[in-house]
Amino acid sequence: MDKTTHLQKLRDVILEWNEKINVTAIRDPEEFDRKNVRDSLSICGLPEYEAARTVLDLGTGGGFPGLPLAVQSPEKAFVLADAVGKKLKVVQAAAQELGLVNVETVHARAEDMAKTKTHREHYDLAVSRAVANMATLSEYCLPFVRVGGFFIAYKTEDAAEEIEAAKPAIAKLGGRILRIDKPSPNNDEPSSGHTLVVVEKIAKTPKEYPRKAGTPGKDPLK
Ligand code: SAH
Repeated sequence: MDKTTHLQKLRDVILEWNEKINVTAIRDPEEFDRKNVRDSLSICGLPEYEAARTVLDLGTGGGFPGLPLAVQSPEKAFVLADAVGKKLKVVQAAAQELGLVNVETVHARAEDMAKTKTHREHYDLAVSRAVANMATLSEYCLPFVRVGGFFIAYKTEDAAEEIEAAKPAIAKLGGRILRIDKPSPNNDEPSSGHTLVVVEKIAKTPKEYPRKAGTPGKDPLK
Protein backbone atom coordinates (compact mmCIF):
# COMPACT_ATOMS: atom_id res chain seq x y z
CA MET A 1 0.00 0.00 0.00
CA ASP A 2 1.42 3.45 -0.85
CA LYS A 3 1.54 6.09 1.89
CA THR A 4 -1.33 8.19 0.53
CA THR A 5 -3.63 5.18 0.51
CA HIS A 6 -2.35 4.14 3.94
CA LEU A 7 -3.11 7.62 5.35
CA GLN A 8 -6.62 7.54 3.81
CA LYS A 9 -7.19 4.19 5.45
CA LEU A 10 -6.01 5.67 8.76
CA ARG A 11 -8.62 8.42 8.39
CA ASP A 12 -11.39 5.93 7.60
CA VAL A 13 -10.47 3.64 10.50
CA ILE A 14 -10.31 6.47 13.06
CA LEU A 15 -13.55 8.03 11.83
CA GLU A 16 -15.28 4.68 12.10
CA TRP A 17 -14.03 4.14 15.67
CA ASN A 18 -14.92 7.72 16.52
CA GLU A 19 -18.60 6.85 16.20
CA LYS A 20 -18.23 4.49 19.15
CA ILE A 21 -15.50 6.19 21.22
CA ASN A 22 -15.10 9.91 20.82
CA VAL A 23 -11.46 10.76 20.08
CA THR A 24 -11.79 13.69 17.68
CA ALA A 25 -14.33 16.45 17.15
CA ILE A 26 -13.47 16.48 13.45
CA ARG A 27 -15.92 14.29 11.54
CA ASP A 28 -15.71 15.68 8.04
CA PRO A 29 -13.22 13.59 5.99
CA GLU A 30 -11.64 16.55 4.20
CA GLU A 31 -11.28 18.54 7.39
CA PHE A 32 -9.83 15.41 9.00
CA ASP A 33 -7.19 15.17 6.26
CA ARG A 34 -6.20 18.77 6.79
CA LYS A 35 -6.41 19.20 10.56
CA ASN A 36 -5.47 15.74 11.76
CA VAL A 37 -3.39 14.13 9.03
CA ARG A 38 -1.56 16.93 7.22
CA ASP A 39 -1.14 18.99 10.38
CA SER A 40 0.39 15.98 12.17
CA LEU A 41 2.81 15.51 9.26
CA SER A 42 3.93 19.16 9.30
CA ILE A 43 7.12 18.26 11.22
CA CYS A 44 8.27 15.94 8.42
CA GLY A 45 11.33 17.37 6.75
CA LEU A 46 12.59 19.11 9.90
CA PRO A 47 16.12 17.81 10.55
CA GLU A 48 15.26 17.07 14.20
CA TYR A 49 12.45 14.81 13.03
CA GLU A 50 14.32 13.15 10.21
CA ALA A 51 17.26 12.24 12.49
CA ALA A 52 15.11 10.69 15.24
CA ARG A 53 14.75 6.92 15.59
CA THR A 54 12.66 6.86 18.75
CA VAL A 55 9.70 9.22 19.04
CA LEU A 56 7.30 9.78 21.95
CA ASP A 57 3.89 11.35 21.31
CA LEU A 58 2.72 12.63 24.70
CA GLY A 59 -1.05 13.05 25.11
CA THR A 60 -1.74 11.37 21.79
CA GLY A 61 -5.53 11.14 22.35
CA GLY A 62 -6.87 9.40 19.24
CA GLY A 63 -3.33 9.14 17.86
CA PHE A 64 -2.27 12.63 16.78
CA PRO A 65 0.31 13.40 15.67
CA GLY A 66 1.69 9.89 16.36
CA LEU A 67 -0.34 7.70 14.02
CA PRO A 68 0.11 9.70 10.79
CA LEU A 69 3.82 10.01 11.60
CA ALA A 70 4.09 6.25 12.14
CA VAL A 71 2.52 5.65 8.72
CA GLN A 72 4.85 8.18 7.14
CA SER A 73 8.02 6.91 8.87
CA PRO A 74 7.95 3.11 9.17
CA GLU A 75 11.66 3.08 10.07
CA LYS A 76 11.10 5.00 13.31
CA ALA A 77 9.78 3.50 16.59
CA PHE A 78 6.83 5.38 18.09
CA VAL A 79 5.48 5.34 21.63
CA LEU A 80 2.05 6.95 21.94
CA ALA A 81 1.14 7.82 25.53
CA ASP A 82 -2.03 9.08 27.12
CA ALA A 83 -3.64 9.20 30.56
CA VAL A 84 -6.98 8.02 29.14
CA GLY A 85 -7.09 4.30 28.40
CA LYS A 86 -10.15 4.20 26.17
CA LYS A 87 -8.53 6.56 23.65
CA LEU A 88 -5.53 4.24 23.49
CA LYS A 89 -7.87 1.34 22.71
CA VAL A 90 -8.80 3.20 19.53
CA VAL A 91 -5.13 3.88 18.79
CA GLN A 92 -4.24 0.21 19.28
CA ALA A 93 -7.12 -1.02 17.16
CA ALA A 94 -6.20 1.42 14.38
CA ALA A 95 -2.52 0.48 14.53
CA GLN A 96 -3.48 -3.16 14.23
CA GLU A 97 -5.92 -2.62 11.36
CA LEU A 98 -3.29 -0.57 9.57
CA GLY A 99 -0.54 -3.13 10.17
CA LEU A 100 1.65 -0.59 11.99
CA VAL A 101 4.29 -2.62 13.79
CA ASN A 102 6.22 0.51 14.82
CA VAL A 103 3.58 1.76 17.30
CA GLU A 104 3.41 1.01 21.02
CA THR A 105 1.02 2.60 23.48
CA VAL A 106 1.54 3.49 27.13
CA HIS A 107 -1.38 4.23 29.41
CA ALA A 108 0.00 6.64 32.01
CA ARG A 109 0.20 10.23 33.09
CA ALA A 110 3.33 11.92 31.86
CA GLU A 111 4.37 12.83 35.41
CA ASP A 112 4.44 9.14 36.44
CA MET A 113 5.78 7.69 33.20
CA ALA A 114 8.71 10.15 33.21
CA LYS A 115 9.94 8.69 36.51
CA THR A 116 10.42 5.22 35.03
CA LYS A 117 13.82 4.00 33.97
CA THR A 118 12.50 2.69 30.67
CA HIS A 119 11.24 6.04 29.49
CA ARG A 120 13.21 8.81 31.25
CA GLU A 121 15.91 10.51 29.14
CA HIS A 122 15.31 7.82 26.53
CA TYR A 123 13.82 9.37 23.40
CA ASP A 124 15.47 11.11 20.47
CA LEU A 125 12.33 13.20 20.08
CA ALA A 126 9.16 13.99 22.02
CA VAL A 127 6.22 15.59 20.23
CA SER A 128 2.89 16.85 21.53
CA ARG A 129 -0.19 18.59 20.17
CA ALA A 130 -3.04 20.30 22.02
CA VAL A 131 -2.18 18.99 25.49
CA ALA A 132 -1.15 21.89 27.75
CA ASN A 133 0.42 25.33 27.87
CA MET A 134 4.07 25.49 26.89
CA ALA A 135 5.51 25.56 30.45
CA THR A 136 3.38 22.62 31.60
CA LEU A 137 4.02 20.75 28.38
CA SER A 138 7.77 21.21 28.73
CA GLU A 139 7.65 19.68 32.21
CA TYR A 140 5.70 16.74 30.76
CA CYS A 141 7.92 16.20 27.71
CA LEU A 142 11.52 17.26 28.33
CA PRO A 143 12.28 14.59 31.01
CA PHE A 144 11.71 11.93 28.32
CA VAL A 145 14.27 13.32 25.90
CA ARG A 146 17.93 12.26 25.93
CA VAL A 147 20.53 15.01 26.06
CA GLY A 148 21.14 15.99 22.43
CA GLY A 149 17.57 15.09 21.48
CA PHE A 150 14.60 17.39 20.85
CA PHE A 151 11.07 18.22 21.88
CA ILE A 152 8.72 19.71 19.28
CA ALA A 153 5.46 21.30 20.41
CA TYR A 154 2.61 21.89 17.96
CA LYS A 155 1.28 25.27 19.09
CA THR A 156 -1.40 27.56 17.74
CA GLU A 157 -0.16 30.59 15.82
CA ASP A 158 -1.19 32.98 18.60
CA ALA A 159 0.96 31.27 21.24
CA ALA A 160 3.96 33.62 21.00
CA GLU A 161 3.46 35.09 24.47
CA GLU A 162 2.93 31.70 26.07
CA ILE A 163 6.10 30.41 24.42
CA GLU A 164 8.12 33.41 25.58
CA ALA A 165 6.79 33.02 29.13
CA ALA A 166 7.88 29.35 29.19
CA LYS A 167 11.57 30.11 28.60
CA PRO A 168 12.64 30.01 32.29
CA ALA A 169 10.74 26.73 32.76
CA ILE A 170 12.40 25.22 29.68
CA ALA A 171 15.83 26.26 31.00
CA LYS A 172 15.16 24.64 34.41
CA LEU A 173 14.21 21.40 32.64
CA GLY A 174 17.45 21.27 30.64
CA GLY A 175 16.17 22.67 27.36
CA ARG A 176 16.47 25.72 25.18
CA ILE A 177 14.30 26.93 22.32
CA LEU A 178 16.21 26.36 19.12
CA ARG A 179 13.69 27.59 16.57
CA ILE A 180 10.06 28.47 16.06
CA ASP A 181 8.77 27.40 12.65
CA LYS A 182 5.66 29.07 11.28
CA PRO A 183 3.49 26.95 9.00
CA SER A 184 4.12 27.81 5.38
CA PRO A 185 1.24 29.80 3.87
CA ASN A 186 -0.78 27.90 1.32
CA ASN A 187 -3.07 29.82 -0.99
CA ASP A 188 -5.26 26.86 -1.81
CA GLU A 189 -6.52 26.19 1.66
CA PRO A 190 -6.80 27.83 5.04
CA SER A 191 -3.82 27.05 7.25
CA SER A 192 -4.22 23.99 9.45
CA GLY A 193 -2.25 26.32 11.53
CA HIS A 194 0.38 25.09 13.92
CA THR A 195 3.57 26.82 14.85
CA LEU A 196 6.28 24.28 15.61
CA VAL A 197 8.40 25.06 18.65
CA VAL A 198 11.67 23.15 18.45
CA VAL A 199 13.37 22.72 21.84
CA GLU A 200 16.82 21.19 22.19
CA LYS A 201 17.71 19.13 25.25
CA ILE A 202 21.06 20.48 26.38
CA ALA A 203 21.31 19.10 29.92
CA LYS A 204 19.74 16.32 31.98
CA THR A 205 16.45 17.19 33.62
CA PRO A 206 16.91 17.59 37.41
CA LYS A 207 15.40 14.66 39.35
CA GLU A 208 12.72 16.81 40.99
CA TYR A 209 10.96 17.22 37.60
CA PRO A 210 8.31 16.45 36.65
CA ARG A 211 6.66 17.28 39.96
CA LYS A 212 3.89 15.04 41.25
CA ALA A 213 0.90 14.30 39.02
CA GLY A 214 -1.32 17.35 38.66
CA THR A 215 1.19 19.96 39.84
CA PRO A 216 2.69 20.89 36.43
CA GLY A 217 -0.81 21.73 35.20
CA LYS A 218 -2.02 23.56 38.31
CA ASP A 219 1.16 25.45 39.03
CA PRO A 220 3.22 25.78 35.83
CA LEU A 221 6.98 26.24 36.35
CA LYS A 222 8.14 29.84 36.15
N1 SAH B 1 -2.79 15.10 20.76
C1 SAH B 1 -4.17 14.79 20.43
C2 SAH B 1 -5.11 14.85 21.64
C3 SAH B 1 -5.24 16.20 22.29
S1 SAH B 1 -6.39 16.17 23.65
C4 SAH B 1 -4.65 15.69 19.30
O1 SAH B 1 -3.98 16.67 19.00
O2 SAH B 1 -5.72 15.40 18.74
C5 SAH B 1 -5.25 16.14 25.01
C6 SAH B 1 -4.86 14.73 25.44
O3 SAH B 1 -3.79 14.83 26.37
C7 SAH B 1 -5.98 13.97 26.13
O4 SAH B 1 -6.18 12.73 25.49
C8 SAH B 1 -5.48 13.80 27.55
O5 SAH B 1 -5.87 12.58 28.15
C9 SAH B 1 -3.97 13.88 27.39
N2 SAH B 1 -3.26 14.35 28.58
C10 SAH B 1 -3.46 15.54 29.23
N3 SAH B 1 -2.62 15.63 30.29
C11 SAH B 1 -1.88 14.49 30.31
C12 SAH B 1 -0.84 14.00 31.17
N4 SAH B 1 -0.43 14.70 32.22
N5 SAH B 1 -0.30 12.80 30.88
C13 SAH B 1 -0.74 12.08 29.81
N6 SAH B 1 -1.72 12.48 28.99
C14 SAH B 1 -2.28 13.68 29.23
